[in-house]
Order: sequence, then C-alpha cells, then structure tokens
Amino acid sequence: MNKIKKIVIANRGEIVSRIIRTCKEMDIETVSIFSDADKNASYLKETNQSFYIGNSSPQESYLNMDKIIEIAKENEIDAIHPGYGFLSENIDFAKKCVENNIIFIGSSPQIIENTGSKILARNLVKSIDVNVITGFSDDNQDIETFIKEAEKITFPILIKADLGGGGRGIKIVNSSEEMKEAFLSAKRESLKSFGQDKVFIEKYFKNSRHIEFQIVGDSFGNILVLGERECSLQRKFQKIIEESPAPNLSIELKDKMFKDTIKIAKSLKYNGIGTIEFILDDNKNFYFMEINPRLQVEHPVTEMLTGLDIVKLQIIIAAGNKLNLNQEDIKINGHAIECRICAENTNDNFIPSTGNIIDFNFPENTKVRIENGINKSDKIDIFYDSLLTKIICYNKNRQSTITTLKNYLKSTYIMGLNTNTDLIVNILENSIFREGQYNTEFLKAFQTHKNNHIEIFLISAILYSFINRKSEKKLLKNISSGWRNNLYQYQNESFKFGDDIYKLEYNLLENNSFEIIINGSSDNSYIVELLENDSENVNFICNNQYYSFKVKSDKESVFIYNSNFGSKIIKKSPRFIKKSNHKIEGEYKSHLPGEIVKIHIVKGQEVKKGDSLITISSMKMENTIYAHSNGIVEDIFIIEKSFIQSDILLLKLKNIIFD
Ligand code: ADP
Ligand code: ADP
Ligand code: MG
Repeated sequence: MNKIKKIVIANRGEIVSRIIRTCKEMDIETVSIFSDADKNASYLKETNQSFYIGNSSPQESYLNMDKIIEIAKENEIDAIHPGYGFLSENIDFAKKCVENNIIFIGSSPQIIENTGSKILARNLVKSIDVNVITGFSDDNQDIETFIKEAEKITFPILIKADLGGGGRGIKIVNSSEEMKEAFLSAKRESLKSFGQDKVFIEKYFKNSRHIEFQIVGDSFGNILVLGERECSLQRKFQKIIEESPAPNLSIELKDKMFKDTIKIAKSLKYNGIGTIEFILDDNKNFYFMEINPRLQVEHPVTEMLTGLDIVKLQIIIAAGNKLNLNQEDIKINGHAIECRICAENTNDNFIPSTGNIIDFNFPENTKVRIENGINKSDKIDIFYDSLLTKIICYNKNRQSTITTLKNYLKSTYIMGLNTNTDLIVNILENSIFREGQYNTEFLKAFQTHKNNHIEIFLISAILYSFINRKSEKKLLKNISSGWRNNLYQYQNESFKFGDDIYKLEYNLLENNSFEIIINGSSDNSYIVELLENDSENVNFICNNQYYSFKVKSDKESVFIYNSNFGSKIIKKSPRFIKKSNHKIEGEYKSHLPGEIVKIHIVKGQEVKKGDSLITISSMKMENTIYAHSNGIVEDIFIIEKSFIQSDILLLKLKNIIFD
C-alpha cells in the first residue's frame, strides 16, 4: 500500500480541524497555514506545524499557490489537501503540485478541467444522453446576444459563472430589462472569486429541489455511489441545511438518478471523491446541474449514514491505492441532517455579520457531531466565508433527527455577532420542513418574526445594566444604583434593535422589584422582580413567569440568550440619541463592513426608485444598495476599491418626484 506520511492542509476554519482528525488516525503528520486573520485559529494548536502565509486577503494567503508549494517543499511533505473552496478545484494548482512531485489530494487535473467549468461539464454530460438544463453557453460574451438567447429560452433565467461555486456569480433574471445589470454583476463577482468572468445562461426552475450524489472513484476504474443528499434548503443559492436520505423521493426516481450518476462518473473515468448535483423540477423531471470534484462542505451527512470516513477514502485513493469496498458494502442507516451556522443577519437579507466572538457554547452530545471553526475572542472579518460551525445530527429516523437537532441547537449560543441559529431552529419547527415538502424557494416565503419577545430581551438588558452599574460602584454600595430619594423619579435608558429605538424607563420599588415602562406606553409597563444573579445570568420574574437569560456585553452591544427565546443583540444607545443616529431621508449608510466594488452613479445624476447605487463585497458575496425613492445624487462619500466599516455614510440623495 502506498503511504502518505506528511501533508500540508491548504485551507482555514473548520475543515482544517476535520482533516487533521483523520490524518492523526492514519498516522499522517500535518502542516497548516494561517493568515493574519487566523493567528488565533484553533487548528493551529492541533497541527504538527503551522506556517504564516501572508496577510488576510485570500489572494495573499490561502490562494497563494507559490507560497504554499514553497512551504510544502521546504518541509518535505508528500501531499497537499486543499479542503473545499480556495484551491480545491484549481487546475493550475493541481498541475503545479504534479510538476513539483507533490500529491494533490483531489481529482486529477484532467477531471478538474472537465468539471471545473460548468459549461464543459454540461457539454460532456449532454453527449452521453443525460438531461441537462436548457441553456446558452458560448465564447461570445456579448450582452446583446445574451439578451436574445435569454428571450428565446424565456424568463426567468439564471446567469451563472462558468467557474462558479458557493452560489457566487449566479443571478436570477426575470426580464430583458434586468439582463445587463445582472450580467455585469455576475461577471464582476466571477472575476473576483474565480479569476475569470465567463458566464452562461440556464432556464430557471422555480420550486425545484437540489439533490446530489456523493461519488468515489479510484485510479483502477472502481466507482462507488455513497447515496444522495437533499440540499434544497438554501439562501442566496447557498445551502444551509442538508440531509440524507432525501425526504419524499420515490425509490424509482432515486434509482434513475443513481444510474445517471454512475453513467456520468464512468464516462469521466472519475477518480477521487466528488459530487454530482441534479435539479429536480416540480414535474419530477431531473437534470444534471454540475459536478464538484472535491470534498463537499456537507460530506459529514454521508459519513454519519454510511459510517465511512470520506477524507480517509480521499487520501487512500490519492496515494494511488485501490478502493477496497464494493457498492454492496455501502449500507445506509438512519437519518442525518447538517446545518451550517453562519455569521449573518437573517433579519436583514442575510447580510454577513462581523464582530468578535465574545463567548460560545456547543455542548457535547452523543447524537451530534460538531465541526467547529471558531474560538473565543476570534475576530470574524470580511475576508472569508461566513461559515462558523457545522452541526451534524444523526438519529434513527427523520423525525427523531429533526427533534434532536432542534433541541441541541436551542442549547447552543454564539455571542458577539448575528448568526442564523434561531432561523434554523424555526425551520426545524416548521410543518412543511417536518413533512419534507420543501424546495429551494422555501426560505423566500419563510416569515421570521424578528421582534418576537423583544420586550423580555429589553427587560433583561436593562436589568443587566442595573446589576453591572451596581457592582461597579465603589462607594455607597448598599444603596442601589439609580436610587433616588424620590421614589417616583424614573431612570431611563435607550436601546436599539434593528432600526428601532426603545426608551426604557424604570423605577426601583422595594425588594428588588422594578416598574419598567417601554416607550412610555402604559400597555408596555411591567412589574419585574430581580432574583439572585451572577455577572452573566439575569434571573427575574415578570408577570408571574420565571425567566433566566445569559447576558454579556461589549462597549456597544448587549448579547442576550435564552434556550427558549434564542439570541438577540441589543445595541446600547446613548441617553440622548445623537442626531447622526437618526435616519435622515436621502442618506444611505452601509449596514455591513466590506469593500466598495462598484459605484453605479455619479454626483448630480438622476436616479429612479430601485436603481442600483453602490455594490459592497463582504465575505465573498456582493450586496447592492438600491435607491428607496427617485432623486438626484447630491454627494458620494466613498471611492471604489476602498474598505468601509458599517454605518458609514455612503451617499446623499435629494428626493424628487418625477412626472
Ligand atoms: P456547492 O459548491 O455546490 O455550493 P458546497 O456547499 O459544499 O457546494 O460548497 C460551498 C462552496 O463555498 C465551496 O465551493 C467553497 O467555495 C465555499 N466555501 C464554503 N465555506 C467555505 C469556507 N469556510 N472557506 C472557504 N470556502 C468556503
Ligand atoms: P454553485 O457552483 O455555486 O453551487 P450551482 O450551479 O450548483 O452553483 O447552483 C447553486 C444553486 O442554485 C443550486 O443548488 C440550485 O438550488 C440553484 N440552481 C442552480 N441552477 C438552477 C436552475 N437552472 N434552476 C433552478 N435553480 C437552480
Ligand atoms: Mg452547486
């Protein structure tokens, strides 16, 4: 048996820890790399050696091929594992490895070449009579031709980046008028993420499902399929929940997809591990979508069901060994679901959320596998993907897996930034999800109630502030903070949640009881009894109900969590709200930090409601700010290619009414 003894892991985050674990089991030494942003990453403590690779920009760190190869050569390693994303599907990198006598733990350059380009893969698959989605792909990248072809296919269509991945470079287009902007944006996103701007068109199937099959092939022509995964639960064309087996998929249909999977894999002489993705439309027709020749983010779902270690198989094959398994050996038992915990604001169009991890908790649980990429005090910045941690749950059937996962997620928290955990809990409680009747549109119609229980969170925030002021007071400790001789003198404090400002007035009654009034409304008046507490837990009784919240804060925000109510970030607001905190009509601020990639307007220009103003790139996704009303651009305060913090004033529009 060929053996690999030492590898470089050319990636970051949870996947590095995941790969290290298998390497340790296989007695392989590991070398990891890190950028400025990752100097505190937990994987650095798990590897045998770690080398600084460059500053935080992906180009200068995890995409820096020459530096990675140099580190590999200097440290006498046998192989490089690229993880997913970054260089995992990069043909030049795979070739460089071969040229330097380094094993690339992935598919051969030939396979990467044939599958890395979605257009090439579509053509190959079409040639062996597997259905592909109606589309238009051509070297001619002329916008007029694209508009004509899109009209022939009929709207809605998708514009997709040929080299795309991770949902980037995909735009839905509903009419000819929307084509140009979508086309240019897809090209920009593609160039930035994949170094090339070729795009193509596909018919867009509404209400479709994404079902994919995990394949493994060795260099001796053996090919195995390790079952399917349902990946329809997505936002922004990116998966957030994946499960296997796919719910409500008939055996006949699954079998047809399985056969096409084998047909495609055989025709490619597939070696390495990979995924073949299909779209299943609402008439139960399925079409090939793409092949990912790499380890997939959701591979643990398949591992939990089959008991196989996919990274181990990948290493064994890459070393030139034969698969010692047959298709009959692949047994699928039970049900597995993965959810991706991402740093994002689910109440604000899933825009990435940055910040410092103040605290987090993922308790051990025998039915749950935790693939964690964060550490306390980590700064989550704009440079990389928003994925923080993956939680994979396994149980005997779908319903029990959903219940276990939901209960588990309720017991976890991450403090310091917004995450999608509460949204995932809501999804797991939803009856359509529970019945397995969802498709890729599911989240578009999903209502989240962002202000749910806001009063009780505000009460926790004010009690926390009271407790802390009291403990900070050096003098007159026995007199409560906020205590005035006059019992009827109310104290007040303001908080902000989302765009809403809340003024809380409170008055200390006797026996640690308070009267708390929110926004001056007698309907929003509460008598609250503060119970024993410590510096992190606020316990109280309100309207005869007991509450216990975990609370932490930094200079600007209060982070509040309770297993039943979830988490919220409440901004501390100065007592007299500064004028600049008010929303001023015509002023546009950025909700997120990032890089200004495009300013669509110039000073003095007339714009119509809905026109694009500014595009900001953060955590690898583009977010465009549109005009809320008709107007004239009065001033622009930023320039292209600059990096901005959130809440920075971007531009001013003078509102006008057009005839
Ligand atoms: P698909 O490409 O079909 O969406 P996955 O969801 O498994 O398949 O992969 C998501 C993509 O997102 C990867 O190709 C990778 O480019 C990117 N990605 C996701 N998470 C990370 C991460 N933590 N670091 C780097 N890239 C990531
Ligand atoms: P990526 O490489 O970014 O994963 P994909 O081609 O796999 O790009 O598309 C991402 C997601 O977009 C898919 O998982 C699917 O849900 C959706 N999608 C892609 N193509 C179509 C299509 N033609 N019709 C409907 N949905 C699509
Ligand atoms: Mg895909």
